[in-house]
Amino acid sequence: MISVIIPIYNEEDNIVPMYERITAVLEKLNVEGEFVYVNDGSSDSSKQVLNQLAKEHQEVKYIHFSRNFGHQIAVSAGLDHVTGDKVVIIDADGQDPPEVIEQLYLKSLEGYEVVYAKRAQRKGESIMKRATAKWFYRVLNRITQIDIPLDTGDFRIIDRKVVQQLRKMPERQKFLRGQISWIGFNQTDVTYEREERMSGETGYSYAKMIRFALDGITSFSNWPLKIATISGFVFSFIGFLLILYTLYSRYVIKDYQPGWASQMVTMVFIGGIQLIGIGIIGEYISRINENIKERPLYVIQDSNIEHASD
Ligand code: UDP
Ligand code: MG
Repeated sequence: MISVIIPIYNEEDNIVPMYERITAVLEKLNVEGEFVYVNDGSSDSSKQVLNQLAKEHQEVKYIHFSRNFGHQIAVSAGLDHVTGDKVVIIDADGQDPPEVIEQLYLKSLEGYEVVYAKRAQRKGESIMKRATAKWFYRVLNRITQIDIPLDTGDFRIIDRKVVQQLRKMPERQKFLRGQISWIGFNQTDVTYEREERMSGETGYSYAKMIRFALDGITSFSNWPLKIATISGFVFSFIGFLLILYTLYSRYVIKDYQPGWASQMVTMVFIGGIQLIGIGIIGEYISRINENIKERPLYVIQDSNIEHASD
């Protein structure tokens, strides 16, 4: 059986068309399917649409969050509740074409625990979004030990074994594509063309994207901390040379200027470097803080899965 996880944030018009497209693919493959819709605090009528869909089709499961927790947490909630042998993660807006599931599934049968969909092209997304995404993944690969595949989202099929490992990873800063790479097993990709959104608008604001990017970096790399330390050393060394030079001018050649400009420049500069260093450390500490609070990752308001909202 294949479980399909679909995070939903204000996707009222996309839910039913996507259900039909995915069902058609599963029928073609002749496999049984289970749909786990995670409604991430939508403010449109997604909730009613899902409840109705579940009434009509018994393979449809829904989880309604008590508020918006974010896309990665929605997918994580889905992972906590799927029962299939293979699990597909797919966006609700049609940007990940369901027809690609066929290739993903067939490839996974060749003995791959993870088959991710690699985008050959991205349609209907701003130049800014494409450029930042491209740049981000290349930097991330440089500064992390694990190999996070380029140009992939969370659209993929994973084996039950991988799901079980993911459930053991309690971190709150979910960066699933990184975690799945970290887990290992046999991984491969199939390429596809990313479509435009069927309807509605993106739920990923720039603020959410920045937070997601920072979660990815801090979860898998300590490189920014090292940069803070290294620049600290470099600037202390320059400062030390400056002290020697100052003493030399003052006492040996006795030629010194009031020196307001140079002092201002160094103070402001060193001050800036220090603040950046403290800020980077703060990013890590705030994440440690979130992790030790041991709050649940999400709160379920209502679900048709047994014991889900206990
Ligand atoms: N989504 C979610 N919670 C959010 C934002 C988005 O569950 O806070 C879902 C959304 O419904 C969609 C998927 O995550 O199924 C991808 O989001 P979106 O299409 O808005 O992002 P984009 O494709 O623009 O990066
Ligand atoms: Mg989208």
